[in-house]
Amino acid sequence: MLKYPRIMLKLSGEALMGDSTESVDPGTVEFIINQVKEILAQGVRVGVVIGGGNFFRGLSGSDRLGIQRANADFMGMLATAMNGILLRDAFNARGIPSKVYSAFPIGNIIKGYNRDSAVKRISDGDVVIFVGGVGSPYFTTDSGAALRAIEMNCDLLIKATKVDGVYDKDPKKYADAVRYDRLTFDDAISQNLGVMDMAAFALCRENDMNINVCSIFKPGSLLRVVSGEDEGTLVYC
Ligand code: UDP
Repeated sequence: MLKYPRIMLKLSGEALMGDSTESVDPGTVEFIINQVKEILAQGVRVGVVIGGGNFFRGLSGSDRLGIQRANADFMGMLATAMNGILLRDAFNARGIPSKVYSAFPIGNIIKGYNRDSAVKRISDGDVVIFVGGVGSPYFTTDSGAALRAIEMNCDLLIKATKVDGVYDKDPKKYADAVRYDRLTFDDAISQNLGVMDMAAFALCRENDMNINVCSIFKPGSLLRVVSGEDEGTLVYC
């Protein structure tokens, strides 16, 4: 039984790197696509918001290069577009119909976002990929994911990361770090657990959009999440 028949999957750009030092690791992309394929086979409708951190991030980029923050953010948004083209073609090449929309049209390369056609595509079972975040600097693709999840009438936002949930402290640094199975939005905010940035968080909370944080590298994790099994951490209203 599906608990969440329609989901928005937030993938960071870094997820595409896997353990590689390359911007994109083909084996990792293949693995992620197979995870998505598993839930599509159950009839789940899937949107994907992809980040760009494997190529460029505005804040760190502007510091390092001495360029204006807003322009660095535009570069970051374009980085998400590169990942979007890659994912779309990788899905299509494996027989999974996929479409990419950008928050801002990119010439004749990527169509500008249109809510009606994106809703229709998702309902038809295509994997719809959203790039460009919310389309403005000073935001992140977490905010884009929150926004598109709400606009696409999704039942859940899945934030798939390298870590298998939300911990009370950094599990890479502390062996005694404890993972939460469930958390309220209020707890996550008051304990400063950094699940998503505050803008994304506020949008989800105001619109009753629960977030499940899980590892994209754990086989079957997406399937368990959409089936309502305990997997990672559920952040709920
Ligand atoms: N970005 C932006 N506005 C948005 C989404 C993204 O300016 O609505 C820029 C920002 O510079 C960000 C970069 O694009 O650092 C890449 O996105 P993000 O850091 O969210 O990617 P991820 O960490 O998920 O790979």
